[in-house]
Amino acid sequence: MDKIEIKFKDGMVRVFPKGTLAKDILSAFLKAEQGDEIVALKIGGVLVDLQAPLGQGGELEAVNWSSAEGIEIMRHSTAHVMAQAVQNLFPNAKITIGPAIKDGFYYDFDCERGFTPEDFPAIEAKMTEIISQNLPITRKEVSRKEAQQLFQDRGEHYKVELIGEISDGQVTLYQQGEFVDLCRGPHLRSTGQIKAFKLTSVAGAYWHGDARNKMLQRIYGTAFPSAEALANYLQRLEEARRRDHRKLGRELDLFSISDEAGGGLVIYHPKGATMRLLLEDFEKREHLKRGYQLVIGPQILKTDLWKRSGHYENYREKMYFTEVEGQSYGIKPMNCLSHMLIYKSKIRSYRDLPLRYFELGTVHRHEKSGELHGLLRVRGFTQDDAHILCTPAQLNGEIKGIINFVQDVMAVFDFPYELEISTRPEQGTIGTEEDWERATLALKAALEESSLPYQVNKGEGAFYGPKIDVKLKDALEREWQCATIQCDFAMPERFDLTYIGQDGEKHRPVMVHRVILGAMERFIGVLIEHYAGAFPTWLAPTQVLLLTVTDPQIPYAEQVYQKLLTAGIRVLKDIRNEKLGLKIREAELQKVPYMLVLGPKEVQHNLISPRAHSGKILKAMSVEDFIHLIKDECKVGGEK
Ligand SMILES: [Zn+2]
Ligand SMILES: [Zn+2]
Repeated sequence: MDKIEIKFKDGMVRVFPKGTLAKDILSAFLKAEQGDEIVALKIGGVLVDLQAPLGQGGELEAVNWSSAEGIEIMRHSTAHVMAQAVQNLFPNAKITIGPAIKDGFYYDFDCERGFTPEDFPAIEAKMTEIISQNLPITRKEVSRKEAQQLFQDRGEHYKVELIGEISDGQVTLYQQGEFVDLCRGPHLRSTGQIKAFKLTSVAGAYWHGDARNKMLQRIYGTAFPSAEALANYLQRLEEARRRDHRKLGRELDLFSISDEAGGGLVIYHPKGATMRLLLEDFEKREHLKRGYQLVIGPQILKTDLWKRSGHYENYREKMYFTEVEGQSYGIKPMNCLSHMLIYKSKIRSYRDLPLRYFELGTVHRHEKSGELHGLLRVRGFTQDDAHILCTPAQLNGEIKGIINFVQDVMAVFDFPYELEISTRPEQGTIGTEEDWERATLALKAALEESSLPYQVNKGEGAFYGPKIDVKLKDALEREWQCATIQCDFAMPERFDLTYIGQDGEKHRPVMVHRVILGAMERFIGVLIEHYAGAFPTWLAPTQVLLLTVTDPQIPYAEQVYQKLLTAGIRVLKDIRNEKLGLKIREAELQKVPYMLVLGPKEVQHNLISPRAHSGKILKAMSVEDFIHLIKDECKVGGEK
């Protein structure tokens, strides 16, 4: 009989017959009361359901139900319970897929009747009933054919289709009560192990995330190990809803995405465009200061060039193509190519290096309709993209320079952040071992010399080189990927980029691709939510709003307005003959940093009394002093 070796935490190794159930290994070695808190095992790093027979040995780790992986298993089981409840209440609903996701789970249904949040109480009540019955969740391995027959008989044609896409001979089914699902697991042992859950929202979702397929209905929910943890999460969710950039984008009139123009294509309204241009100005200043040169490339480039760069081979699915006079062109999904053509336009000497080309480059990528999300996931966006070409010896200094840049920029927006280094993948990479070693060391050394902690993602690098990713944390502690710094050995090779070294010979430069904010669209989306729409003065599309109390103040208001405008302050006026209370309320909703209410007193003393959006009322001051105050607040980055 085949044996497997299980290594326990204390170093002891025990031999079991192959096919021993995970739960039997567990019960042999753990006290019963501890066993209750364990929802799965990890053997050799692979999650295993307690009911699964073990095919392979390895180091054993118990997955506690309150660990991150345990919570994920519980959420997945809750998704199944929700599907069971939905089918119980709406027998015509067909099940498709229902995974655990970050912060919760969802299940997609095909159902004639559209679900709304009004259905949630009934579904939740049914779920509570299923949970209180404490139904055992059983796992069964069957042949594909058997599974297909089972779902065919139950009228679940989406499941039949999914089984058709699986290549294994055997599949696993999970069952609780009358509900059966095709699923890899692992799952809880019984429905009673679910402690606290809540359904959160409903949305349309295409089958397989493709707009050509049928629109399904996705119900989102979440589950936590305790009622308290759930309550905390729901409160954060409520705050996130209040800050949702799509909602605020509409209320503050910043941007729109219209079905007429196409999904994922952002239309900036005057205020949004102002913000975008302010950010771009900031970026240009900061780049010029750090020795970058501004460049601009075309929007479309010949397909042959994309073939040479490897994009056609590796990235074609995400690209759009067009034709001009019988010649095929690719719309750029990245900005690298023109930058390399600029480099190649001359013979370069080691004395010219490093060269740092910066472009606010607009790119287009095909993202699936189902994955588009406001400004955070779009099809057309502008990156603050730069490519640095340098000698291998300069790499360390260049990386440090970029890290420094990231630190400065994150400080401007008050974002804490974390760094990750991704190293060489096991296979499918280009470049020599030596190249990888050198570049990875350069990345690590730069972070260490800057005394920055980082995490290593082994084998997660790009095929062309290792990278550093920067994840910022917003006001709600959510993580967003922004800056990335990638070393590349492929492009200089493919485009035969060279420089003449000190020895008079040709050498290959190293190429670094990097963004600081990433995509402007996405960054603006994150900013809207981070600031809840109340932008700092330097970034606010409107900085000052003038309000008159009654008509006699209009001439004075016009005077103040002109002075502010001439000083370059972004100011609007509200001189309507409306109640002051209403004008103030409307102004509050626009979250403008300063409101100037001009009444008879202000006119008489030729002063203004600014009130900040925070509610703070400043002492009365002259228009000139106020202009100074605003200008001081607008000094960001190196201007301070
Ligand atoms: Zn499942
Ligand atoms: Zn690039």
